[in-house]
Amino acid sequence: MKRQSSYKDEKGKLYLVPTPIGNLEDITIRAKKILTDADYIAAEDTRTSGILLEKIGVHNKMLSFHKYNSKERAPELVKLMQEGAVIAEISDAGMPVISDPGYILVKECIKADIPVVPLPGPSAFATALIASGFDAQPFTYYGFLPRKSSEQKPFFEQMEKSHATSIFYEAPHRLSKTLKTMSSIFKPDRQIVAARELTKIHEEFVRGSIEEVTDYFVENAPRGEFVILVSPNTEKEETLSWSELIKLVDKLVQAGTSKKDAIKQVAKENKVSKNELYDQYHQG
Ligand code: SAM
Repeated sequence: MKRQSSYKDEKGKLYLVPTPIGNLEDITIRAKKILTDADYIAAEDTRTSGILLEKIGVHNKMLSFHKYNSKERAPELVKLMQEGAVIAEISDAGMPVISDPGYILVKECIKADIPVVPLPGPSAFATALIASGFDAQPFTYYGFLPRKSSEQKPFFEQMEKSHATSIFYEAPHRLSKTLKTMSSIFKPDRQIVAARELTKIHEEFVRGSIEEVTDYFVENAPRGEFVILVSPNTEKEETLSWSELIKLVDKLVQAGTSKKDAIKQVAKENKVSKNELYDQYHQG
């Protein structure tokens, strides 16, 4: 077990700093302060972040930290923090670590007992979720799905059954194909939302059945950045009554299964308590 006190001392630490996903006014006062006061800013793309930092009036030293150099860079950054440096990590947009680099550095910092201090702020999936009109609890965030339809299918089969709202990111040029793959798995009336260009001037929510949204994007080529949300499956699983479950136990017993094993099997297959079924069986 390990305990971390984020603000106890002034030694080196890692701040995870979210940046706007479109609207520059979404940078928080605290994020700006941390970015200004840190010894270094570790940025996914120093050019992209340089433009953002310039616009929000932050001038500070940047180090590049992206998915291709993260393995070698993480120990170097950890060393700087062990020597007392405060590093603010940012990604191109939104929350670092969420479908962006950062995870390796967080893991290495925890290993080295360096405090990891997260700042709250914009993330595309949470922004889309709260306006989707779907239940926000529970939800499952998948990030980017694999690109091939054959590899996407198991994810969609899981979402099809799921009682949670499902959320994933998709590139505009792949969206129509992905929607067609979804159409082959989901019932056509399953509701989805395509949340586009969040916080930007062309922000748009396309809400409807999979069939309607797929047709819409055949007519209107997808442009910009997208979050796709799938409504929870609201179909009730069929539950059997106790007398029906007892009949199933009897059938197994007649076929030669012991009473104990038959009760165990029927309880497991029907997601009921083994003890309860045992009691019901012996009462009945
Ligand atoms: N770290 C980011 C976050 O916290 O949301 C996600 C980074 S991921 C590399 C980029 C993807 O996020 C985009 O391809 C898009 O699917 C989604 N995204 C980012 N900004 C968005 C926006 N303004 N509107 C809709 N989707 C967005």
